[in-house]
Amino acid sequence: MLQEEQKQQLLHLLKTHFGYDSFRPNQLEIITHVLSKKDALAIMPTGGGKSLCYQLPALALEGTAVVISPLIALMKDQVDVLKANGVAVAYYNSSQAQEEQQETLKALQDGKLKLFYVAPESLGHMQQLFKEITISLFAVDEAHCISSWGHDFRPAYTQLGRLKTEYPNVPVIALTATADRATQDDIVEQLSIPNAERHLASFNRPNLYLEVRPGQNRMQQIQQFLEDKTTESGIIYCLSRKSTEKIAESLCKLGFKAKAYHAGIQAEKRSSIQEDFINDRTPIIVATIAFGMGIDKSNVRWVIHYNLPKNLEGYYQEIGRAGRDGVDSNTLLFYSYSDVLQLRRFIDSGANTTVQLAKLERMQQYAEALSCRRIALLNYFGEHNTKDCGNCDICKRPPAYFDATVMAQKVCSAVLRLKEQEAMGMVIDVLRGSQNAMLFDKGYQNIKTFGALKDISWQDLQQYIIQLLNQGVLQINFKEHSKLEITPLAKAILFDKQTIKLATLINLKERAKEKSSATKKQSPLFEKLRILRQKIAMEQNVPAYVVFTDASLKDMEAKKPMTIEAFEKVSGVGAAKLKKYASVFMEEIAAHRRTIKSKVPTHEVSYTMFKDGISITDIALERGIKEDTIYGHLQKTHENGEPIDFKQFITSEEIKKIETAKEELTDAEGLKAFYTHFEEKMPYWKIKMGLYLIDN
Ligand code: ADP
Ligand code: MG
Ligand code: ZN
Repeated sequence: MLQEEQKQQLLHLLKTHFGYDSFRPNQLEIITHVLSKKDALAIMPTGGGKSLCYQLPALALEGTAVVISPLIALMKDQVDVLKANGVAVAYYNSSQAQEEQQETLKALQDGKLKLFYVAPESLGHMQQLFKEITISLFAVDEAHCISSWGHDFRPAYTQLGRLKTEYPNVPVIALTATADRATQDDIVEQLSIPNAERHLASFNRPNLYLEVRPGQNRMQQIQQFLEDKTTESGIIYCLSRKSTEKIAESLCKLGFKAKAYHAGIQAEKRSSIQEDFINDRTPIIVATIAFGMGIDKSNVRWVIHYNLPKNLEGYYQEIGRAGRDGVDSNTLLFYSYSDVLQLRRFIDSGANTTVQLAKLERMQQYAEALSCRRIALLNYFGEHNTKDCGNCDICKRPPAYFDATVMAQKVCSAVLRLKEQEAMGMVIDVLRGSQNAMLFDKGYQNIKTFGALKDISWQDLQQYIIQLLNQGVLQINFKEHSKLEITPLAKAILFDKQTIKLATLINLKERAKEKSSATKKQSPLFEKLRILRQKIAMEQNVPAYVVFTDASLKDMEAKKPMTIEAFEKVSGVGAAKLKKYASVFMEEIAAHRRTIKSKVPTHEVSYTMFKDGISITDIALERGIKEDTIYGHLQKTHENGEPIDFKQFITSEEIKKIETAKEELTDAEGLKAFYTHFEEKMPYWKIKMGLYLIDN
């Protein structure tokens, strides 16, 4: 088949079944590869759209696609989404009742399923059955579970190599978001697909806003952050079980709906907390890192790191749980030096210390970065993009610098006078002239720099010292109780007139004013659509994003469809959803228009609808007004200064004709005379429009 022809067919399938108009990066390449019956390894970030890479071939090929997925929650989610799109699909796992299992196997045997999801542990029961059916492809989702190097190793995954040996002609596609080479090699080897083509997508997630703030008054900052996000789902990650509970409790006291989640909670309760999150009943989860791996919830709108993660891999994976639907989402990392020290202690007490310390240092550098954070992040993952992203805190507000030579001299002098024997905390106390008992015991109140920087707050001074560390003026001796030491550069500043600039700090008040959020306050229409979606989701017992993703609602809000044809154009509306939901959602939109209408002058209502791309006929229909009147409304809006291109309604020849007629007829004769003059072939509205345009 011609390439272009195949592409058009696939685009058609994409729209019909999933409602999307275009492929995400790499999807088309992977899909055509699988369709040519070859093996593939797809590596894409979370939210990159991996599922489609096997779901679309499954729909295009004859037979049933077998999808191996490690977690019941993941299977259920995908099956819900596919069913909502009208795809014949089922899953099989140990959590189901026997009847349900039998029913599924029967459907599979009868060739009724386009996709069949199964846990790797259950594959053993299928051997005979698989021989009797046509299998279009095997998809191994979350394929990193095969690797004992990885973090989610699943012993049953190691059996999957059998698939290729037993079914050499069925293509195998493995999918993962884990990018490291060792895991990739492991996947290919263990699945016995040495010739699998590897498709590595960019790991950039441009819709995630990246922000780092100093970890002071964190609860207050979180409260401000959440002010305009009360209905949005989000996750707060922190280090300890105890703090998850403490933070969740504080949030509840402040009136937010939040729950703690950690490995110490009983399994049953944990899964009910997860369910409540997926179904938008509990918008906020405060969790240890364990949370999130088993869910595909597409409308997580924000992720906060209450504590510094121990490496960038973990950080990126966790923020990656936000904004899978591609809609703008916020991520916020709190950075505090005490977290660094605590993490170092953890690491020092474990194995593999050098690597882990190096990773922590990269994490720290990211948090302390003074240039585009996304560049730093992508560089770490081996993507060397040199353009500033425009969607991180640094790009939004590039740091301003001031001459900090005198301040640096005072700090370095204090470090020297303390004989490089004290850690950062004590150095700050000395510089601020703190009344600290230990300080007095040691007689530090007598050294010359005692109180030399007393006008700077403790936290700010700490931030400046961190900058001095980054610039190589000071260093920390981690082997010796994290004592602060000076470097040759410090000596140059102290004794050789070397100057230094530091970045100005922004205080919390300014930050609060700034409203860093990528998501703006939801519009009234979005809110109405969201509530309707929630109602439908509850009736059908599926998560809200299964009915429509946030991306679909946003598109619907922008397009305000009034006709079936217009509704079909909304992203995420395929044949099944068009049939099920077009009328209810359009009713909601129409109702919304009516409420606006009552407050706005009638001609403006028509004009707004016109601007939204609705035809004059449809506006007239929807508003119950004659088309002639609508044209009159447009004319009136134009008189008020709005630009309207009338050429789409009337040609210049027609205007000419009207002009000639005008010269022949006298003004007193009115529109009727024109109408008769044109032998009733030119409608009244056009005559009016022509006359208006001649005069204007
Ligand atoms: P992954 O498995 O890579 O984390 P998913 O397959 O779960 O990602 O897809 C994430 C989201 O992106 C889903 O809501 C999905 O419907 C959406 N999506 C996938 N492909 C497209 C596309 N071509 N256009 C628009 N949205 C898409
Ligand atoms: Mg996935
Ligand atoms: Zn940036």
